Amino acid sequence: MANIKEIVAQIKMDYPNPDCELVFKNSYELIVAVILSAQCTDKRVNLVTKELFKAYPTVQDLANADILAVEEIIKPCGFFRNKAKNIIAMARDVVLKHNGEIPSKKDDLKSLAGVGEKTANVVLATAFGVPAIAVDTHVFRVSNRLGLANARTVEKTQEQLEKNLNKSDWARMHFSLVLHGRYVCKAINPKCEDCHLSKNCKFYLQNHKNDAKNA
Ligand code: SF4
Repeated sequence: MANIKEIVAQIKMDYPNPDCELVFKNSYELIVAVILSAQCTDKRVNLVTKELFKAYPTVQDLANADILAVEEIIKPCGFFRNKAKNIIAMARDVVLKHNGEIPSKKDDLKSLAGVGEKTANVVLATAFGVPAIAVDTHVFRVSNRLGLANARTVEKTQEQLEKNLNKSDWARMHFSLVLHGRYVCKAINPKCEDCHLSKNCKFYLQNHKNDAKNA
């Protein structure tokens, strides 16, 4: 069993103020940016949303947008046809069913086009300060390598993280694990030699043991 207390304490020291790297000014901009970030880097999303929010500054503007014009702007994000359809449908739902306000309840968020568990959790934690731990590709990989979770699916990983971590730490752990996965614990060639978590990391200790055996 991983030493969760020590891992969390080290992560808090390494990432004292973890935050979302998406640029946004309000919950409307955040939810759009998170939908666009699927299979795309935050850096690219930030370039695209700069132009997108200039053209559609409010959720009402996006609800009335021409899909071809939106597709043209968000093309660099990939899967642009689907994403354009989803963000416009999401905006229309927000205008028609939620009085133009991005909802702050998980079920309401998940009823919007293009919004699944992960996006809903990021919006809840980031825009509304609600404890939530979103499991994206980085959180999934890093938490299972460390031993904060031991699961093969995103759903199970989320369930175990919610059980193993204090609720008050959920949001900051999400952002910290994303940053750690992005810059240190990369999918290929994790920088274990530079990582302060190695002495408690299941993946590192396992590989280290194998190295020693093979020496
Ligand atoms: S020791 Fe290596 S595998 Fe473990 S968290 Fe750090 S970078 Fe990732």
